[in-house]
Formats: sequence, C-alpha cells, structure tokens
Amino acid sequence: MIDTAPVRKIIHVDMDAFYASVEQGDNPELRGRPLAVGGAAARGVVAAASYEARKFGVHSAMPSVTAARKCPELIFVKPRFEIYRAVSQQIREIFAEYTPLIEPLSLDEAYLDVTENLKSMPIATEIAFEIRAKIKAATGLNASAGISYNKFLAKMASDLNKPNGQAVITPKKGPAFVEQLAVKKFHGVGPATAEKMHRLGIETGTDLKAQSLQFLTQHFGKSGPYFYGIARGIDNRAVRPDRERKSVGAEDTFVADINDLDLATNELKPLAEKVWSYCAAKGFSGKTVTVKIKYSDFTQATRSKTNALPFTNGTDVLNAASRLLATVYPFRRAVRLLGVTLSSLTSEQSHSGTEQPQLDFDR
Ligand SMILES: [Mg+2]
Repeated sequence: MIDTAPVRKIIHVDMDAFYASVEQGDNPELRGRPLAVGGAAARGVVAAASYEARKFGVHSAMPSVTAARKCPELIFVKPRFEIYRAVSQQIREIFAEYTPLIEPLSLDEAYLDVTENLKSMPIATEIAFEIRAKIKAATGLNASAGISYNKFLAKMASDLNKPNGQAVITPKKGPAFVEQLAVKKFHGVGPATAEKMHRLGIETGTDLKAQSLQFLTQHFGKSGPYFYGIARGIDNRAVRPDRERKSVGAEDTFVADINDLDLATNELKPLAEKVWSYCAAKGFSGKTVTVKIKYSDFTQATRSKTNALPFTNGTDVLNAASRLLATVYPFRRAVRLLGVTLSSLTSEQSHSGTEQPQLDFDR
C-alpha cells in the first residue's frame, strides 16, 4: 500500500519552569534562587519550581510542606495567574505567525502543526528555532521545543535538550527512540499506569511493543490502542486548535474486586489527589465532583454533586467523592473500578472569571 499522506511536522513548545521564570524575570532578587510558585500553607501545593529548586528535588504538584523540607531555603511566591495568562497570550501570538493549528495543553505548552505553515518554511527545526528566539526577545523567557512527525514524539523530544534547547526525532529514528525509553517516561503514562505496567512486566518501549492490541485493550481500556501505537512510534492524533477542557478525571481498575466500603474509600484517595494536583498546577478548579463505580459484572453507576462554589482543596474533593461512594453502599456487586472526575471547570485564580484554559489531559 502506498501512503500518500504527507508526513506531519509537529512542534511541541514547552516553556522552561514557566511560572517560576516569569517571577524571576519580574523580580531580580529571585534570580538564581530556589523558588516555588504556590502556597506555603499547610495544604498548599507547588505549582512550579525554578531550576535552582529542582536541584533539591522540588517539583510541581508536590505538597509545599514536602518541598520546604527538601529545600529549607526555598522561597515561596504566590501565583499570579493573570500575569502568566497574559504572557501565555503573548507567546500564542508568536505561534500564530506561523500556523493557525495551535493546541495549547496549558499556559506554558502547546502543539503546533507546521506541516503547512504561514511562512512556507520547509524545515520545522528552523521554525522552532525562530519561535524560541522570538519568545526570548518578547518575554525574556526560555522555551524548549521538540520537533517530530507526531504529537507523542514531539512532546517527548521537547524534554531531550531542556532547558533552552530543542531536539528532533525523525520518522527513521522514532521507533528505536521509543523502544529504549522507560514507559514511565511516556507522555500519557501516569504513576498509576506505570505501576500497573510494572506489575505486568512492561518497563520499556520494547516490552510494550511485545504486547498485543487485545492485551493492551483488556488491561488499559480506551488507552490500549494509544499505547499500542506509541510503542511503534505511531500517533495519529491531529493537532486540535482551541479545544476546551471540560473535565479532569482519574480512574483505576483494581487487581482484586473490592466489597468493603473502607477499602473502596481508601482507593478514592490517590484518584482525588491526582485530579486535584492537576487542577492546582494548572490554576483552575471545578464545582462538580463525579464518582464512577464499575462493578464486577461490568455494569456501572455514577453519582455527582455540584457545589455552589469551586473546590479549593483536594481534601474537600476527596470528602465529597467519599460521601458519594457511600450512597451506593452496600455495593450491588464487588467493585472493579473507581473513577473521580471534576467538572464545571473554572479558572479559580483568574480575576477575569470567564476565560478557561484550553487543556488536554487525555494523554
Ligand atoms: Mg513547561
């Protein structure tokens, strides 16, 4: 079969320690210092860490208490999302000089499809280089970029020469690159999935490639075909501009079905934490929490509760989810899967109130 579709040219642009770099740019006293953007309070979470802080093991989504323990000199700065949003907009305007096909993942990351581009530039690495130079000139900030023939590899590539660097993964090199990579580093494989893969003996791209589509679908559901593809360096997802995120969710299938309410409630904790740490890091929240319960016979139930105001911390999300779960106890069958989703999203720290960050959390 002859494939006549042109090979896509995708760039993933990722700002380096974005929130922290904006703060260091605005305040010379913070430059060269270990810095965490986020609340220092008991239940605060690090939204971003400067490279100086990362040397101490501080990273985003880490509880502030843990971060302060790892780095006693750590300076906490309150996030200013309205500023980050404005800088992000400036950066998007630079992207738009090159292509209308821009898919933001958050304020500091986006995919660009430059297969056809507004400057008729044939070499995507040159486009990435220009864009990074323009971002630096306009904002003073460093960006890294990954260039490849699909979103997955472009995303993986942007990490290779970070900070302030770029890397390309060609179609010829893609499959071999994936094979040697640890699956826990794959975009779309979170800690829970990585742990599950570990239990199944899948540690590297090569291990993943050895599994059948049927096996991967059986164990990872809807993500099965995605994993099957990326293990081969294949990812046909298009760059989707202006996609709005409607919800953030996490779910887990258990090794053994659960009949006990306490045990099941316990399983909600990592799910609520994952959902909340994502929201906290991205600067938004939601008003509706939904719990999905899938039973051993594969029937399922969902229970939702909408608050008047968005959640402000992960503990409240967990408590709301726990109360919802209790309403279906005693379980009609043993529980094989639980999910927690936050929806009716709002950017809680935004004073404008109406603007919603466009995100992609499915992979
Ligand atoms: Mg970044």
